[in-house]
Amino acid sequence: MAGEGSAAAFDDEAEPTVTIGEYIEGIEAEELEADLVLGGDDGKECTYGGGYLKRQAVFSCLTCVPAGVGGVCTACSLACHDGHEVVELWTKRKFRCDCGNSKFGGHPCKLCPEKDPENSANSYNHNFKGSYCTCGRPYPDPEAKEQVEMIQCCICEDWFHEDHIGLNSIEEIPHDEEGEPLYEDFICQKCSPDCYFLKLYPDTVWASRTQNSVSQASTTDSTVMDGGPSHDNIEKRENGSLANHLNCENTYGDDNCPKDNAAPEKAILDDSSDRKCKLGMDIGTNTTLVDSEKKLPFFMSKGWREVICRCETCTNFYGEQGVAYLIDKDDSIEEYEKVAKQKREKKLEQQEGAEANFLNSLDHVQKIEILSGINDMKNEFQSFLESFDPTKPVTSEDIKAVFENLAKKKRQRLS
Ligand SMILES: [Zn+2]
Ligand SMILES: [Zn+2]
Ligand SMILES: [Zn+2]
Ligand SMILES: [Zn+2]
Ligand SMILES: [Zn+2]
Ligand SMILES: [Zn+2]
Repeated sequence: MAGEGSAAAFDDEAEPTVTIGEYIEGIEAEELEADLVLGGDDGKECTYGGGYLKRQAVFSCLTCVPAGVGGVCTACSLACHDGHEVVELWTKRKFRCDCGNSKFGGHPCKLCPEKDPENSANSYNHNFKGSYCTCGRPYPDPEAKEQVEMIQCCICEDWFHEDHIGLNSIEEIPHDEEGEPLYEDFICQKCSPDCYFLKLYPDTVWASRTQNSVSQASTTDSTVMDGGPSHDNIEKRENGSLANHLNCENTYGDDNCPKDNAAPEKAILDDSSDRKCKLGMDIGTNTTLVDSEKKLPFFMSKGWREVICRCETCTNFYGEQGVAYLIDKDDSIEEYEKVAKQKREKKLEQQEGAEANFLNSLDHVQKIEILSGINDMKNEFQSFLESFDPTKPVTSEDIKAVFENLAKKKRQRLS
């Protein structure tokens, strides 16, 4: 069947298959994604003056700093490192722009040249060299058949392939049926000993593949808790706070269950006062925390950061462990993205306002000229859309035709 007919059919199939709706949605989604990473930063000014920002998008320029021990802000990545080999690191906490400082081998910063020779509080993991995960591969990985998404540890901020985080199967990662994460934060194997104190908390802070809920807790079967406390004990300790004893069978395989024999007793949270410790203990001296040998990745449930205790003792302990940022609302990606979304909405509003102001500043003739241009565009698109089944793919030929017709109209009016 090598006739002309089948060749034509093949051509049709080779056309890009995107509908107008999908095309516009795609552009908007890309813009939103970019705005979320940039945190609503318009990328015009170097952020150095703001000091160590709680969170910002960071880039590493391997042309200027091949050793990967320097990072620059968004504006600098654009203004000072255009055409260089720049690695996008997504967001990092407590980072100050290094652009043009002593690490940059004489390459000056065009936006903010007056900088200290070094930012001593910056830290640089291997992401700054362009490698990620325990496997140290680049992203995107030129040798991978398919680019898979990676997950970021909320402590060290390195990125990991889901199958390299030390679980028996990626099935143990709390995802819903669509593959969307059911967890807010991930803590990698390397960082989990620093966060071992979280094991004192009830299981509501742990993400599970089925949503944590009180009703589920009451139906949870105690038989999965091999070696753990017997059902009777749970009943006695519960005092009505069932949610405190949700088990972890859904999140971790049996071998990985954090509630192993060495796991500390879970506290029943006391929310009665802000000053009193929710855990009712001095976590710094709690001896059940000594067993941090077992390095397991943790998945934390949505809203877990609000649950953890903020009493003086606990707060000091977080400081000693170097994780004080966990109780800072602005540290979470969720908050960062929320602020970014608000800034984006404001920006879009301002853009609309600016367009209206621009029109008002024009004289009558200019207005007519522009408006008729816009109208031509609208009409052309309108008739194009009407002539077209919106669910059908749009090809580059179709788009070209629209603009050719517009050009013709303009010539007609000018002549
Ligand atoms: Zn900068
Ligand atoms: Zn550079
Ligand atoms: Zn710069
Ligand atoms: Zn990996
Ligand atoms: Zn980590
Ligand atoms: Zn406390």
